[in-house]
Amino acid sequence: MALSEFSVIDRFFRPLGRVRSDVQLGIGDDAALTRLPSGHELVTTVDTLVAGVHFPVGATANDIAHKALAVNLSDLAAMGAQPAWATLALTLPEINESWLQDFAAGWVALADQFDVALIGGDTTRGPLTITVSALGSVPEGGALRRDAARPLDHIYVSGYLGDGYGGLRCVIENKFHDPNGQYLRDRLNRPSPRVSLGRKLRGVAHSAIDISDGLLADLNHILVQSQCGALIDPSALPLSSALLTTARDFLEHPCVDGADFSAAQRCALAGGDDYELCFTVAPDLAPRIEEVARSIGCSIARIGTVESASGVRIVSADGSPREIAVSGFQHF
Ligand code: ADP
Ligand code: MG
Repeated sequence: MALSEFSVIDRFFRPLGRVRSDVQLGIGDDAALTRLPSGHELVTTVDTLVAGVHFPVGATANDIAHKALAVNLSDLAAMGAQPAWATLALTLPEINESWLQDFAAGWVALADQFDVALIGGDTTRGPLTITVSALGSVPEGGALRRDAARPLDHIYVSGYLGDGYGGLRCVIENKFHDPNGQYLRDRLNRPSPRVSLGRKLRGVAHSAIDISDGLLADLNHILVQSQCGALIDPSALPLSSALLTTARDFLEHPCVDGADFSAAQRCALAGGDDYELCFTVAPDLAPRIEEVARSIGCSIARIGTVESASGVRIVSADGSPREIAVSGFQHF
């Protein structure tokens, strides 16, 4: 006999409500009760993943759980927050126990890494959709925001850019049978939220955002909200060797204004789903941030400079700045 909604919750989700001393009441009542550390603010984010849009239809349940939680933790990271709790609203076409087991395993592996307790959720029937809300805390007034970049700030990104888009191409073009394709598919399905880096940026970076829709589009949110612009050096974009090796052969590339970019650079500038951080730091604090990133083993690369004139300019091959139009992934 198929499991009931409540036995599904008991069997698969209640065990994910790991013990944290700040959870007074977790899964099982009408709502959860949690306690914030004193002098801290609550940081809340929510993201929905729809099958076929946010993960390939063939993604494993383990990957789906990982990604659903990871993209939320990435938002907390971009605020400089310490993650603490999450809720999970799951819409399932059917009760498939092995799928649920695999989902729970994917969830718990990442949740344990960041000490996140599942404190509630909702379970319904319908087309596969996963909505996760992640909650965390920052010391009062300490959150990293999009609206505080200043001219002359150095612009940094973490990790490699373009791998998420590269992974999507490998899945669509059925090219994940060699190590490069497997690595890229993994970057698409299993992003690494930069939580430690985000926390270390508190009090140092002027502004931060996580890159979900593509570098240019997301950096532009910082620039518009901070009322400034930027000069980006495409030769400084951090590109993985897997992307450099495979990008030229992709059947499609993200559209970037202008012809003077390599295939891998296009993926990095306008591909989505990287979940790296993009942040800006005053020039005198740049050495400190590079030291901090080294100390936590997170690679960062300086890709440009904030300027007072609005818009995004790119250093062209001859060294002169060229204005470019900004585009990225949009749902509508
Ligand atoms: P209500 O009808 O009051 O919304 P539910 O019957 O939907 O409560 O859920 C019962 C309990 O199980 C609640 O505490 C809810 O937060 C939790 N819950 C339901 N679905 C999930 C899920 N997928 N993951 C975690 N907790 C869940
Ligand atoms: Mg409910």
